Amino acid sequence: MEYVIIGNGVAAIGAVEGIRQWDAASPITIVSAEPYKVYGRPLISHLLAGKIHESDIFYRSDDYYDLRGVKLLLGMRAVQILPDKRKVASSDGRMLPFDRLLIATGGIPFMPPLPGRDGPDVYTFTTLDDVRKIEVLIGKAKKIVVIGGGLIGLKVSESLHDRGIRVTVVELADRILSTAFDPIAGEIIRKHLTEMGMEIILQNSATEIVRENGHIRAVIMSDGTRRDCEAVVIAIGVVPNISLVEGTGIKTNRGILTDDFMETSVSGIYAAGDVAEAHDLLLGQRRVTPIWPVAYLQGQYAGFNMAGAKIAYRGSIPMNSIEFYGIPTVSIGLSNPVGENYEVRHMYLPERNLYRKIVLKDHLLAGAVLVGRIQRAGILTGLILNRIDCESFKEELLKDDFGLINLPVEVRKKMLAVNP
Ligand SMILES: Cc1cc2nc3c(=O)[nH]c(=O)nc-3n(C[C@H](O)[C@H](O)[C@H](O)COP(=O)(O)OP(=O)(O)OC[C@H]3O[C@@H](n4cnc5c(N)ncnc54)[C@H](O)[C@@H]3O)c2cc1C
Repeated sequence: MEYVIIGNGVAAIGAVEGIRQWDAASPITIVSAEPYKVYGRPLISHLLAGKIHESDIFYRSDDYYDLRGVKLLLGMRAVQILPDKRKVASSDGRMLPFDRLLIATGGIPFMPPLPGRDGPDVYTFTTLDDVRKIEVLIGKAKKIVVIGGGLIGLKVSESLHDRGIRVTVVELADRILSTAFDPIAGEIIRKHLTEMGMEIILQNSATEIVRENGHIRAVIMSDGTRRDCEAVVIAIGVVPNISLVEGTGIKTNRGILTDDFMETSVSGIYAAGDVAEAHDLLLGQRRVTPIWPVAYLQGQYAGFNMAGAKIAYRGSIPMNSIEFYGIPTVSIGLSNPVGENYEVRHMYLPERNLYRKIVLKDHLLAGAVLVGRIQRAGILTGLILNRIDCESFKEELLKDDFGLINLPVEVRKKMLAVNP
């Protein structure tokens, strides 16, 4: 059996570890466009902030690949998949044969067609190389505009602010983190970041990057206002990197469609991580869930099944945990439900920046947003995953000191699978 994995992110690592649980010896080849051993992508903002060293982001040992019989082709791109021939063509002209292939190519930043975009000092923020490029600005640039107030936009903004740069964030929606947060959570964090010295502009968008002699001078907003700056970071979203499967017969929607075994529509070819559309536990449909733990898990299950184990991936729920200058936040599952079938309850103490919201459907917990106190968020995740009827104790879930003790004994037993 020969395995080939395209991409060397966390989904690829999950796959190596999944394969090796069932197949200790068959050769695995990883083709990696980035010239680095696997690193913690979410950590690049801490690196840019100067809080950690570059060596801290590499979370597997130097001999990790060798010890697992993995041939790692760094700085090499897969350029074509030939499903009939069972081969992958690589950028250096090789033909890599495979019996089982995993596509784990992640996502790529979406770049809007903005006048003035093409030229120096427009950056994205998804890779170690992006950090190295942006690092050059530190000590030189005084003002930077970040387009996009989602997870990546806010993380890069906080890092730049930490390094002494004045940051303006421009967000089209009526709140920051519009996917994971609701208006109250978004407002608590917007206010806090503004108090820390960042400018956050909502319901506005960048319409032009103004250059003089090639150098960035300002960004013009859709309301006609202008923000002077010397550089721009575009962070308005990441889209599944599916270009490699065009013309292969592998079915795609937004991402590459996978079945319960993470296999694509072409037998023997699997997909996992930010590039894949897989089962979503809450919506009961396939969708891209671009978060780190999900990418690992999907990769691991792809690995099990590539090695012949036939173990179904039970699906995931979206979840994010981020701290903004001392205010911790968590969002789990459906934080902004659409439709009438949901019951939404919340508790908000503005003076303490404390907020808890729960979303119920048919008495089952479907989502939660926590700001200020996030302890025991794992219990809420457990209630969602175990499909526990929360009707009799739903008010308890809103208490800021909520814990297992607030749950009825029979629920505790079910959650812990031991006697309380
Ligand atoms: C700044 C930032 C902060 C984040 N913070 C969080 C967080 O707090 N929590 C969280 O859960 N998630 C976070 N994420 C998301 C998380 O990092 C991703 O969900 C995860 O990295 C996806 O892993 P992956 O293996 O699917 O893809 P990736 O990590 O994107 O890896 C894919 C790899 O494939 C390579 N590749 C692509 N095409 C080819 C090709 N043709 N040939 C060879 N190689 C190729 C790419 O270069 C890349 O190295 C963050 C992401 C970013 C960018």
